[in-house]
Amino acid sequence: MFYAQFKSISGKETYPLSQIVYKDSAGSLLGVSHDCSAWKSRSPEEWKNLFGNRRSSFAPADLSGVWSKRELVLPELPVEDIVTLQEGWTPLFNAQKLAKEINIKSLHVKLCGNSHTGSFKDLGMTVLVSQVNHLIKNGIPIKAVACASTGDTSAALSAYCAKAGIPSIVFLPAGKISVAQLVQPISNGSIVLALDTDFDGCMKIVQEVAADKSIYLANSMNSLRIEGQKTISYELCQELGWDLPDVIIIPGGNLGNVSALAKGIDDLSALGLTDKKPRIVVAQAQNANPFYQAYKRDFDKLRPVQAQKTLASAIQIGNPVSYPKAQQAIKDYNGIVEQVSEQELSDAAHRADKTGLYCCPHTGVALGALFKLREKDIISSDESVVVISTANGLKFSEFKAAYHEQKLDGISPKYANAIHHLPADAGTVISKLKLILQ
Ligand SMILES: *Cc1c(COP(=O)(O)O)cnc(C)c1O
Repeated sequence: MFYAQFKSISGKETYPLSQIVYKDSAGSLLGVSHDCSAWKSRSPEEWKNLFGNRRSSFAPADLSGVWSKRELVLPELPVEDIVTLQEGWTPLFNAQKLAKEINIKSLHVKLCGNSHTGSFKDLGMTVLVSQVNHLIKNGIPIKAVACASTGDTSAALSAYCAKAGIPSIVFLPAGKISVAQLVQPISNGSIVLALDTDFDGCMKIVQEVAADKSIYLANSMNSLRIEGQKTISYELCQELGWDLPDVIIIPGGNLGNVSALAKGIDDLSALGLTDKKPRIVVAQAQNANPFYQAYKRDFDKLRPVQAQKTLASAIQIGNPVSYPKAQQAIKDYNGIVEQVSEQELSDAAHRADKTGLYCCPHTGVALGALFKLREKDIISSDESVVVISTANGLKFSEFKAAYHEQKLDGISPKYANAIHHLPADAGTVISKLKLILQ
């Protein structure tokens, strides 16, 4: 009874989800479009009860934050074709201490990096790989799934493909991703190609490779991934007692995730689960800020930039694929785009760590934007805020260790915590501790 298809942004072209298609005939992005009138066959109360009941079920699909909302994701996918690593249902960290420090009503951090491969990319990849699994089972000749990546997408792709037994190919910019991110696809048995270029360069090449339809393209222009990532909004709403905060802040690179966040909120309104319209803030690194610049020009058009090196390596992107959807999201949700410097993102991440978080640099970008907007009083003290933390800090140990060792180029760390090297002598240790604790 529930139904979805690919639809062009203009709304003029549609394709079945079983077709391998990433763009419309004019080369614009597609989206997955659901028959929202069918959703009305259930009342908001019935939906809430269904999702509430699944939260206490141990059925494999129900244990996933994505597939527990399956009617709204890929309604026609047979449950037995789902490839899941129990993605979603990540912690919503109540950052009371940080909220107090910056004087706002409430602050929660959605820890999307507490996931199988350590980033929110799992949410989208479970949907894409499940659909590919379904297509292969139905005899469609797909030899491998490929993606260009700043690290986290390839980690997710390789894990889900390995689980399903589907070959995967990852295109990485040589020397531009963290060791942990590089080791993940190697371990999961992907064909790993390190190219002497940046992310945008890898993106161009993977698209040429995927022109042959037996190589399936997994980048975020593939709108199936958005269907998984949009469940961040469902989950937030459910966790907050079917309510949403006043402001949601998210770091943006290729801008698929902010598009997904907005789509999720659109769905919640269509389902009658909330009528709240939070302001959406996209946070960019100043060194890779084409979206910020376009925002400052009232979104006249995207002018791609050569992305400069940033510690927030997953968002070092100069030509974001999902620009059209993201600018719509900012318009629909009275949004803001903010940028932060390398110094600001580093300090923001480690300031938050002191309150019990463990932030990756991208989460630092989002928190840095929060601190700036709060200082300018653009976010006011009576507002509730959710920050989307996109990856696990454990993937970025080099960044975090170098911060505390004061070895980050051009950064003077405000929140560095130095190690005390002492002789193994109880007397010296006791007198040192007395000094520190006095
Ligand atoms: C992919 C990624 C982003 C950016 O998401 P987009 O959809 O490209 O805007 C941010 N943070 C991390 C850790 C990522 O892996």
